[in-house]
Amino acid sequence: MVSKKYIEENWSIKDHGYLASKHISRDDYFMDIARVVWEKCTCDRGKCGCVIVKDHSVISSWFANAPEWSETCDMVGHQMFSMVNDKWEKEEHCMRNNCAEQNAIASAARKWIALEWATLYVTMTPCTIRHCAHMIVACGIKRVVCDKRYQHGQEAEEIFRSAWVELVYLDGETLKYN
Ligand SMILES: [Zn+2]
Ligand SMILES: [Zn+2]
Repeated sequence: MVSKKYIEENWSIKDHGYLASKHISRDDYFMDIARVVWEKCTCDRGKCGCVIVKDHSVISSWFANAPEWSETCDMVGHQMFSMVNDKWEKEEHCMRNNCAEQNAIASAARKWIALEWATLYVTMTPCTIRHCAHMIVACGIKRVVCDKRYQHGQEAEEIFRSAWVELVYLDGETLKYN
């Protein structure tokens, strides 16, 4: 049996009121899993990994990928679209894939898993152009933990702030790509 002394020396009560090891925080633990998921991406533009957690257990995970059974960028190349952003600058996006967050949310939906009050771990700030931030709020997810900051992530940060969704960055380095 674990003694009270052992618990006091090795464990601490973290912000969210449950026991967490001093050696690795729960956020680091689940983000490590998201980083492994990230490696499975089939499109090298905007690689992203996502893990959804409820009651300290992983309930869904996925990576940026074409919908199941579809051809992937690794197989047939990117599906590039040119678009103009709200600053009238031209941007290029590969539109073959669902974002990691969308695939993880869809995977939970297939299994009738409710995401209300869940925590979503993602390797960079969710996007707004494909409505990931909006979907996360609509699912009732109440906490979003990101590793890196997406260069166009400010709009998502504002969506989470206004919806009372807690947003945390672990690394916080800004990722830039065209
Ligand atoms: Zn692609
Ligand atoms: Zn997205």
